[in-house]
Amino acid sequence: MVMGETPGGNGVDGEADPIGPIVHPTAPTAPRAGRAPVRSVVHTACPYCGVGCGLLARPDGRGGATIAGDPAHPANHGKLCSKGAALGETLGLGTRLLHPMMRQGAGPLRRVSWDDALGRVAEGFRTAIERHGPDSVSFYLSGQLLTEDYYAANKLAKGFLGTANVDTNSRLCMASTVSGHRRAFGSDTVPGVYADLDLADLVVLVGSNAAWCHPVLFRRLEAARAARGTRLVVIDPRHTATASEADLALHLNPGKDTIIFAGLLAFLAEAGRLDTAYIAAHTSGFEAALARARALAPDIDAAARASGVPAADLAAFYRLFAETERVVTAFSQGVNQSAQGTDKVNAIINCHLATGRIGRPGMGPFSLTGQPNAMGGREVGGLANQLAAHMVFTPEAIDRVGRYWRAPRMATREGLKAVALFEAIAERRIRALWVMGTNPAVSLPEADRQRKALAQLDFLAISDNVLASDTLACQPHVALPALGWGEKDGTVTNSERRISRQRPFLPPPGEARRLGFAGAFGWDGPAAVFREHAGLSAFENDGTRDFDLGALATVDTAAYDALAPVQWPVRAGETTGETRFFAEGGFFTPDRRARFVAPEAPALAQPASPAFPLVLLTGRTRDQWHTMTRTGLSPRLGGHAPAPFVAMNPADAARRGIGAGDLVRLSSPHGAATLLAQLSADQPPGTLFAPIHWSDTTASGARVNALIGAEVDPVSGQPESKGAPVRAERVDAATRGILLVRGAAPVRDAAPWSAAWWADVAVAGGHARLFADARDATAWRQALWREEAWRQAGASGTAVEHDDGPAGLYRAARFDADGRVAAALFIGPAVAPPRLDAVKHLLEQANVAPEARRALLRGVDAAGSPGPQVCACFGVGRHALERLVAAEPGVDLATLGERLKAGTACGSCRPELCRLLRPAAAAP
Ligand code: SF4
Repeated sequence: MVMGETPGGNGVDGEADPIGPIVHPTAPTAPRAGRAPVRSVVHTACPYCGVGCGLLARPDGRGGATIAGDPAHPANHGKLCSKGAALGETLGLGTRLLHPMMRQGAGPLRRVSWDDALGRVAEGFRTAIERHGPDSVSFYLSGQLLTEDYYAANKLAKGFLGTANVDTNSRLCMASTVSGHRRAFGSDTVPGVYADLDLADLVVLVGSNAAWCHPVLFRRLEAARAARGTRLVVIDPRHTATASEADLALHLNPGKDTIIFAGLLAFLAEAGRLDTAYIAAHTSGFEAALARARALAPDIDAAARASGVPAADLAAFYRLFAETERVVTAFSQGVNQSAQGTDKVNAIINCHLATGRIGRPGMGPFSLTGQPNAMGGREVGGLANQLAAHMVFTPEAIDRVGRYWRAPRMATREGLKAVALFEAIAERRIRALWVMGTNPAVSLPEADRQRKALAQLDFLAISDNVLASDTLACQPHVALPALGWGEKDGTVTNSERRISRQRPFLPPPGEARRLGFAGAFGWDGPAAVFREHAGLSAFENDGTRDFDLGALATVDTAAYDALAPVQWPVRAGETTGETRFFAEGGFFTPDRRARFVAPEAPALAQPASPAFPLVLLTGRTRDQWHTMTRTGLSPRLGGHAPAPFVAMNPADAARRGIGAGDLVRLSSPHGAATLLAQLSADQPPGTLFAPIHWSDTTASGARVNALIGAEVDPVSGQPESKGAPVRAERVDAATRGILLVRGAAPVRDAAPWSAAWWADVAVAGGHARLFADARDATAWRQALWREEAWRQAGASGTAVEHDDGPAGLYRAARFDADGRVAAALFIGPAVAPPRLDAVKHLLEQANVAPEARRALLRGVDAAGSPGPQVCACFGVGRHALERLVAAEPGVDLATLGERLKAGTACGSCRPELCRLLRPAAAAP
């Protein structure tokens, strides 16, 4: 058992202050009511991706905190990516939901007491159960919840309400990995650990832009490559930042991953590279899987034709894999988010089982989870087809869990998975829903339809920590304020099965203290929930289940507070350490053998057609997270991709008359979105890429999940988010503009005038709105001075304008009494729009002298601007980097760092810096 080893014992460091050079001060935040629990350094965990980095948080006593990487945490050894490093900028209360709210009839949400709000929730659920039975109620949870939250919700629904309609946004993220693991291993077990990336000689990344989406892990891989020459193969349709770093990049056609691994299995058999002893001793189903592989990819040429990867590249990969003993195949959303994701996972696992390369140092299949606690959710049964503690709905497990919980009303069958759950809502089979910490009106496929479904519920409760979201706009009956990161107390589990404490370092704001189920279940805090959860994992286990925290089942509250990061299993009576699974077999199937799985022939669920000829892939950008409710608050995270965009191949764009930066309307049978065109040869012809982050709260009509169909994997229920048929058309506008407004309030509140298209972004000192409209510059000028919000901006100061009608330019600024820009408007023709990177610094300027004000407007252009942001930590732009590269041929990464500091802090931009240094390598 590993407890009490964290410096400072209870996760709080006293005199020693290990915060090193990577220190990022917070933005000023509103003072919080209540007493901060601590004023020194707290060891906690990052709330974003599944890498699960450890953090040191030093609260400033004013509601903010300084954040640094925790050198003692085994997941990151002190490193952070841009998102983790900017956490201090996201702690303000300006966008927080702070009080329970309730709606009467069709009226708006109004503040009420906790008693009233919780009473209404209980009544909503009770009424639905009485009238329509237990399966008429449901919970939709989030991979951002802590394990203890998840455990409580799951226990309440599956043990006490009698329904398994408890699903989570992790369904959209890694459900196919769960299914693939269970089919192959008999359990949802990640066999390996992060250290395998240090020890491998070959790392294969499949459907993973790790350089952007798991950056700290990617930097660990970079270090291993530098130290021992680890080869890197990337399999992805796009030439991503990750692919640009690879020794070999295989750009397959969307959805064809199974072909590549079927071809690999056939090749390994042909080349005599199988581990026949391992296959014979520990597996079953090999012959059928090999026969299917040979049918799908009889030889390399056939695999090349079917996958779209050049035969020579496939042959090189197959030889490399065959000849390298230490291979890790890490996979992520490009594999999971597919209507055949489970088959893809099993096609990968098949190759590792066939070579016996599993569970030994430096080898194995490795799932990189997207969310910070997707793994914890899996552990407690947060998915509708799981029970608890990695048990599923067998009669024995239902009986076992029921006895452990002393549950009066155990659910006896699997519940509805996310997409099916929302279908049931639309069909009125589900009448009451409680959404916790997620934004399904944005993130589910066919998002427009889901929004309508939410509005049909007899009762909708939402607990969240934001005041505005697309889901909160769906007229919930009750909205409950949730604690946010920095306030919550519990545990999360990362991609390598490591449980870390998320500790509070800020006082709960508003009335968020009473949120939770603790009272109803008699727990006196998260330690008690954790003990019960750990106890269930060990209950009647005896080595029959992988997930076992038996050694932690009696942990007292002080030891729970002090819990150091620990990897499961943590069995009673055993010492803990780095644990791998399956090197010697011991799978969790009835006969303890792994199962080879024969995958189906791959095909997109909805192929492109003449009406919808392009294939849309969705994903993440480097510096944003989910629907930006937290990362969207950080100015430095807003600089890298400030507006919703769609990446297109230049040939596809030219055929449609679309130029770089044009507005593009994407439409599919399910919906539409309007985005800015980003032209790149890295985007394969016939495909598009658009990020998932924007919602109706941050832009107009930029929710890309409105375009995605609801076709799901038949085993996992995970929707196909990468592979939607769409068409693209240019949208004409007369003018494009940027409005800058000082202060914390989003632009929409400061200037509620409408434009045909808009997107908001945080900038240093305030907010910016980028917009496009049919009005010309003159019409904008007339509208501007009628606008009350404009007249009020800096009302005690002065205003200037620059009007160049013939050029289609209009610029105006208002200054406050201190001479600072209070608000500024820039209008230009749509063919030459104003650039955000050229103007956003204006809010940072102090006291612009009166004589300089008009010149300031006249001189605003892109010529001297730093360009689109590349390095978030030091605000280094592409233009500045390109100027240095052009001036000094042969300049290297170290020199870019010395001269401009780029890439010298979090390092998330290093792949982009490398690409700038060798542009020829960027072409696929
Ligand atoms: Fe957070 Fe970045 Fe670490 Fe992921 S890689 S856990 S986002 S700091």
